[in-house]
Amino acid sequence: MRGDQQLTTHNRQPFSMDYKPTINLPRTGFAMKADLAQREPKMLAEWEAQNRYAQLQAHTAQREHAFILHDGPPYANGAIHLGHAVNKILKDAVVRSKLMAGFRSPYIPGWDCHGLPIEIAVEKKVGKVGQKVDATEFRKLCRDYASAQIDLQRKDFKRLGVLGDWEHPYRTMDLKYEADILRALARVYANGHVVRGFKPVHWCFDCGSALAEAEIEYADKQSPAIDVAYDALDPKSLAAKFGVTVGDGDIVAVPIWTTTPWTLPASLAVTLGPQLDYVLVEGPARAGRRVLLVLAETLAGKALARYGVERVKVLGRAQGESLASFSPLPSGEGGRRPGEGSGGSKPHGDTEPSPQPLSRGERGLKHPFYDREIALILGEHVSAEEGTGAVHTAPGHGVEDFQVGQKYGLVENTPANVLNPVGANGVYLPGTPTFEGQHIWKANDTIIELLRERGVLLHAAKITHSYPHCWRHRTPIAFRTTPQWFIGMERAGLRESAMRAIRNDVTFYPSWGEERIAGMVEGRPDWCISRQRTWGVPIALFVHKRNAEPHPRSVELLEQVAQRVEKNGVDAWYALEPSELLGDEAKDYDKVTDILDVWFDSGTSHFCVLDQRAELARKPGDQVIYLEGSDQHRGWFQSSLLTSCAMHDHAPFDEVLTHGFTVDAQGRKMSKSLGNGIEPQDVMKHYGADILRLWIASADYRNEMALSDEILKRVADSYRRIRNTARFLLGNLDGFDPAQHLLPAEQCLLLDQWAVQCAFDVQQAVVAAYARYDFPEIVQRVQNFCTNEMGALYLDITKDRLYTMPLDSRARRSAQSAMYRILEAMVRWLAPLLSFTSEEIWQHMPRTMVLDGKVVERDASVLFHTWYDGLAATQGSPERRRWWGDLLSVREAASRVLEGMRKDGKIGSSLDAKLVIHADPAIVARYHEVADELRFFFIVSDLRLDRGAQPEGAVLTELEGADVYVAASVSEAPKCVRCWHHREDVGIHAGHPELCGRCVENVEAYEGRGSGESRRWF
Ligand SMILES: [Zn+2]
Ligand SMILES: [Zn+2]
Repeated sequence: MRGDQQLTTHNRQPFSMDYKPTINLPRTGFAMKADLAQREPKMLAEWEAQNRYAQLQAHTAQREHAFILHDGPPYANGAIHLGHAVNKILKDAVVRSKLMAGFRSPYIPGWDCHGLPIEIAVEKKVGKVGQKVDATEFRKLCRDYASAQIDLQRKDFKRLGVLGDWEHPYRTMDLKYEADILRALARVYANGHVVRGFKPVHWCFDCGSALAEAEIEYADKQSPAIDVAYDALDPKSLAAKFGVTVGDGDIVAVPIWTTTPWTLPASLAVTLGPQLDYVLVEGPARAGRRVLLVLAETLAGKALARYGVERVKVLGRAQGESLASFSPLPSGEGGRRPGEGSGGSKPHGDTEPSPQPLSRGERGLKHPFYDREIALILGEHVSAEEGTGAVHTAPGHGVEDFQVGQKYGLVENTPANVLNPVGANGVYLPGTPTFEGQHIWKANDTIIELLRERGVLLHAAKITHSYPHCWRHRTPIAFRTTPQWFIGMERAGLRESAMRAIRNDVTFYPSWGEERIAGMVEGRPDWCISRQRTWGVPIALFVHKRNAEPHPRSVELLEQVAQRVEKNGVDAWYALEPSELLGDEAKDYDKVTDILDVWFDSGTSHFCVLDQRAELARKPGDQVIYLEGSDQHRGWFQSSLLTSCAMHDHAPFDEVLTHGFTVDAQGRKMSKSLGNGIEPQDVMKHYGADILRLWIASADYRNEMALSDEILKRVADSYRRIRNTARFLLGNLDGFDPAQHLLPAEQCLLLDQWAVQCAFDVQQAVVAAYARYDFPEIVQRVQNFCTNEMGALYLDITKDRLYTMPLDSRARRSAQSAMYRILEAMVRWLAPLLSFTSEEIWQHMPRTMVLDGKVVERDASVLFHTWYDGLAATQGSPERRRWWGDLLSVREAASRVLEGMRKDGKIGSSLDAKLVIHADPAIVARYHEVADELRFFFIVSDLRLDRGAQPEGAVLTELEGADVYVAASVSEAPKCVRCWHHREDVGIHAGHPELCGRCVENVEAYEGRGSGESRRWF
């Protein structure tokens, strides 16, 4: 503040007489030094002792509408990191802003407790299930582990200043929650969305389990790339389709290109593109026999070059369509039932599957090393971009392969161990010829060798390509077709329901979230909800031993199981004797032992939490927001949306907000190896949680959020400006009792009305920004207000009045009234962002407050209140805004002139100078009324408005339609020792020879004579 040197006690010249008692210096217990690292834990302890969260709920219980932020549960594993802090603090800011906006806004934090990472952590301690501990004991250890992790995280979440029901969080392993998961499953099942399917799923051999889409990440992998000849069983008839006649020992083969040799044991077909053009060409001879190859025309040259054939000799042409050896099933037959979509195929029919599919009488190809006929079929997915234009097809190991295999009846008619000969651990199943017991990644080399020996390996190389990996193990995954449970996207209109909700019912922040999730839901495959693991909620269905169909009374049975789980946990399912529920039927049914995907656990929290807890009950007009990192478009937002649509045909949320991830100042991901990580615990230890909170609020969460020590220092500076402004306001409110001293707006001095108007304008912007979750805009506005309107102007100008005028003078009470109102507003603007500092300010504010026109004792928390409505907008008309705008422009010009004089050593402070302002008569007339007090607004000892011509050395300011000149000079008048203004009337008064006229009046008022100086405008 530029006026800092004015009227501070330490550098004042001593008065000849002691006028110090007549000066009102600010006083407050609100410390200049924030000391947040020490102060915040104490405040937390106090809030906990008072049970602040319960108090707050009681205070707001009667509010008409609820706005509920439903917590996406973090996984209960490991200490919190910066990402957790960002997520929880943004949530807290939303909850608090909704409270301020007048909503009921309960916040129930949650934890996701089941699942593999916890199993792995427990396995590390006690080994796998069945080694040293049984499943029941193992689950107990998982539960204990998760509980300990929750305690660890909860402590840090609270330390961030996040307000919530930390003593009653929701945990997906709570027995009631586990039971409700089963009830949710029953509802989804009852609505016809659950299906048992036989389908390729992403499989991690280290997890030993299927993976969700969200659990996969892509990374480079080196793989073999081989070309393999599939010889025609009837070479003459295949060649004839190209119009070519071949001799008796000639080989006609279709080469395929693959990067997964290990899938060849599961090879059932070769697929051609029906619209592609194929050529029959001369290939490399094999053991003296002539070899003719079928290749896509556009790829033939490249492929032959790989095989060492330099010259392409085309013998004949044919379109893919004419080359198939085999017809698709008429639609409607086979595994896929109407309305079932791709998840509905039935793995084990009532009859034994025949080993060979239907044929149309033509012979196909030979498997390269097994005695198996390979069908030559057609698929639109085959392209001529790379390879040979012919695709080896293993429905057990790929989605497109599976789909085309289904179309031709290959899936239905192939035994399960032939369709997918690979076990859960990545090893070929017993009975797999040649490769039984080998791991698939190791088998690649063996297979290539075998192909070479048999003369069908046309080429072998290595390539590096982007390949899906398990996000936990970082190991390559594969597709395995296994019996699994699915929520079918095409069943009972689920995809349409979800798309409708996205398009019509949900508001996304930022708005691109809508396209993102819509694109994902539009294209996603069926949701595989089963896992072959231990720590989770069982898919508590009884399936028929013969056809694996769920029991006809499954919905009712699920409820009976849920009641047992609610009492005794998930072990109740494993301990259950089927006859207890099924009676005599029990002999025909098996219990499903798969557990549910944990995404189903957390995805049903809208039912298990939002629909269960009394404080979260909603009525029409109430709203729910979900707020998570932007990766949750394919994670929790989607699993929640799908389960809710499957249960209720509507979205569980009205609004979805996503935030980006944290990076360092150079935009790099934070990591241990780069050493650029910043832990929230360290920030709280050094700076305090409010600094972390202010950073999060000011960073643009819609993008990546950069943090570094340098950035933290800048945020701490910015915090200090806000804190100092609050402190100055508090200091000047010393002795101010709103009950007695608060002046109505229209009785306040003009400058004070302007200050309140500025606060009013800021509040409009701040409240609107909170409503659209634009936190950076809020920080910017508040920051500017503290720096510009307050720091550089109002606080500086009012010092004179507050310090030198009588305590109870109207002019002083007017400034205090404005400051009181501004602070009441400002503390609320800050409350959603700075949870500690806002309460600290609140505690130091006047003990009484005016609320709805009544004087009341100030209560325990700013959060009990809504946006301040006591800011009067008396200076907001266009005329008044122009009046102030022009005056501020002139003041800015004057400040530049005075600053120049100070630099030249002509003056010390601006009070050593006087100003003459030259303007045209209309302008002079506009400010004529306030002219006598303008010197206070400009903080100079004298100011004169003049209609005369431009004086020499004056500085021009251009206002709209008028020129104004500012001329400054050093004041020759003597200086008043009390107020430091240079005034001609210093020395006139015999009793106070060192004082100016108005100081004499003010001192006499202090002594009980007269009412002191009077001030109307500034
Ligand atoms: Zn894995
Ligand atoms: Zn004076």
